[in-house]
Amino acid sequence: MFKGILITKDDGVYRALLQDIDDAVLPDADTTVQVEWSTLNYKDGLALTGKSPVVRRFPMVPGIDFAGTVIETSNTAWKVGDRVVLNGWGVGETHCGGLAAKARVKGEWLVPLPASFSARQAMAIGTAGYTAMLCVLALEKHGIKPADGEILVTGANGGVGSVAIAVLAKLGYQVAASTGRPDEAEHLKALGASTIVERSELSAPGKPIGKERWAGVVDTVGSHTLANACATTKYSGAVAACGLAGGMDFPATVAPFILRGVTLYGIDSVMAPLTVRQEAWERLGRDLEIAKLDSITREIPLSEAVAVGAELLAGKVRGRVVVDVSR
Ligand code: NAP
Repeated sequence: MFKGILITKDDGVYRALLQDIDDAVLPDADTTVQVEWSTLNYKDGLALTGKSPVVRRFPMVPGIDFAGTVIETSNTAWKVGDRVVLNGWGVGETHCGGLAAKARVKGEWLVPLPASFSARQAMAIGTAGYTAMLCVLALEKHGIKPADGEILVTGANGGVGSVAIAVLAKLGYQVAASTGRPDEAEHLKALGASTIVERSELSAPGKPIGKERWAGVVDTVGSHTLANACATTKYSGAVAACGLAGGMDFPATVAPFILRGVTLYGIDSVMAPLTVRQEAWERLGRDLEIAKLDSITREIPLSEAVAVGAELLAGKVRGRVVVDVSR
C-alpha cells in the first residue's frame, strides 16, 4: 500500500480522495519510482476537479509530473537509486501519475534529474516550466533576437507565463506581461517583465490585423487573446501557442499570416520526443535563475492538492505549486 490521491467514477459520481492505495492499482510497466515531489499544473486542476475529461481511465492516480528515485526496474537504461523526472506521456490521464508516493511507468518516459536542480526544484519547473522553455526555444529557432522588440507573454501570473518571463528576461528580451491581475505588476516586474498589459486589452474580439507590437509571443490563453496576439505581431514575427486558459477556440483570420508573414507554432509538451525534452531541461539549467524559481513556488502537502487544484482553475494561484507527497 502507498499514500496517494485516487480518482474514481462510480455510478457517474466523480471523486478525488487522498487514501491508501493498493499496489495492484499501478499499471504494468518496467520501472517503479518512489515519488518525492509532484506539482500542480492546469491539467492537474482539470483532473482533480473533473471539470474537463482529462482522466480517461478509472481508478486513476492524477499528476502529470513527478520527481523521485528508481526503486525497481527491468529497463537497462536505469538502475535502482537513479534520480529521475517525468513529464507528460499521458501519465495522470491514461496511466497512473505522480500525486502519490509511488508510480510505475515505462523507463523510456523518464529523464535523469538534471544535476542543476533538486527534485523539488524540478517539480517547481514541472510541465509548466518545461513548456515555457519549449515556447522560448520555438521563438529562438525562428530567429527572434532581443533587438527585434518586445515579447508578449499572456497568462503572465500562471506557471507557464511566470517561467517564460523569467527565462526571456535572463536571455535579454524585453517582456510585456499580459495579466488579469494587475495588482501583481510588481511581482511580474521582479520576474523580469518591463511592461504590463491588461488582460482585457487582448481578450475581447479584435480586428483581423492591428498595429505591429510584438516581435514574438508566448500564448497560454488561446481564444480571442491568441487571435489578437497574432494580429498585432510584427512582420515575420512568431507566436508560440501552448494554452487554452481563456478558451480552446481560435476566432482569427488568416490576415496576419498572409499579409505579415507571421508564423504560428503549436507547442506540445506531452508527447515531445526525448531529444526535445533533454534540450529544454538543459536550457532551463542554464537560463532559469533559481532565486526567481523559488520566488514563484508555493509548497503544499498532498492533503491540500485537491483544494488547491480548484484554486488553480479559478485563476487564484500565482506561479507554481510543488506537492510534498510524503505529507
Ligand atoms: P495556470 O498556472 O493556471 O495559469 C494560467 C493563467 O492564465 C492564470 O494564472 C491567469 O493569468 C490566466 N488566465 C486564467 N483564466 C483566464 C481567462 N479566462 N482568460 C484569460 N486568462 C486567463 O496554468 P499553466 O499551468 O500555466 O498552464 C497555462 C495553459 O497552458 C493552460 O491552458 C494549460 O493547459 C496549457 N499548457 C499546455 C501545455 C502543452 O503541452 N501544450 C503544457 C502546459 C500547460 P493572469 O492572472 O496573469 O491573467
